[in-house]
Amino acid sequence: MTAETHLFGCLQDNYGVLVHDKASGATAAIDAPEATPVEAALKKTGWKLTDIFVTHHHGDHTGGIAELKQRHGCRVVAPRNEAKKIPAVDETVGEGDVVRLGELSARVLETPGHTAGHIAYWFEDDCLAFVGDTLFSIGCGRVIEGTPEMMWNSLVKLRRLPGETRLFCGHEYTQANIRFAQTIEPDNLALIARAAEASEQVANRQPTIPTTLDSEKAANPFLRADVPEVAAAVGMAGKPPAQVFAEIRERKNRS
Ligand SMILES: [Zn+2]
Repeated sequence: MTAETHLFGCLQDNYGVLVHDKASGATAAIDAPEATPVEAALKKTGWKLTDIFVTHHHGDHTGGIAELKQRHGCRVVAPRNEAKKIPAVDETVGEGDVVRLGELSARVLETPGHTAGHIAYWFEDDCLAFVGDTLFSIGCGRVIEGTPEMMWNSLVKLRRLPGETRLFCGHEYTQANIRFAQTIEPDNLALIARAAEASEQVANRQPTIPTTLDSEKAANPFLRADVPEVAAAVGMAGKPPAQVFAEIRERKNRS
């Protein structure tokens, strides 16, 4: 009972990913930025689309749903708190719900901030989490519908998952994120190592994800707003982590 994954690019810098349960043949697309690359991924893997698990309502995550649903009759699972903004939804889910994919199962974590109803799917037994636009490698999503405090709490919730959890996120932003992170923690050795790793991955035309939670905890400034050195680096020593996070996010928005 092991999940297989297949990652592929969509649109400009979005990622699509298929999760496959070999035992039952069930396959889920995590989000569906557009239909054509999902179809190509299905053809390449030989997997049959049974489900779409949606993280949030943005068009670059949902644009392919209607077409895929029509063609495959797959089940569309979406966050309860923004399902009205998502096409062709069959099932809505919220915090703590368990979504089955054949013999695999994912727990739903509500991670609001980027959007008000954003969710992540955590396949605990497979050490896998699909975090949409909440957490990126060495970055995090923009706080569009929530407050910085809400987003910080969502990141802390993800940070509590086991360190070896492999994280799949919605975009390839890693190198730009690293350039920004190095303005906050230029001497962070884990960040320096991640920068070298990502450069090599990009040079070899490989994706920089999945990443692991342990790697992000060591190098991602947005997960480190409660580290005293990080607070001090943005001139906010002793301030509450949510405020430090807000300052880091604000600096990234301006960068
Ligand atoms: Zn988004």
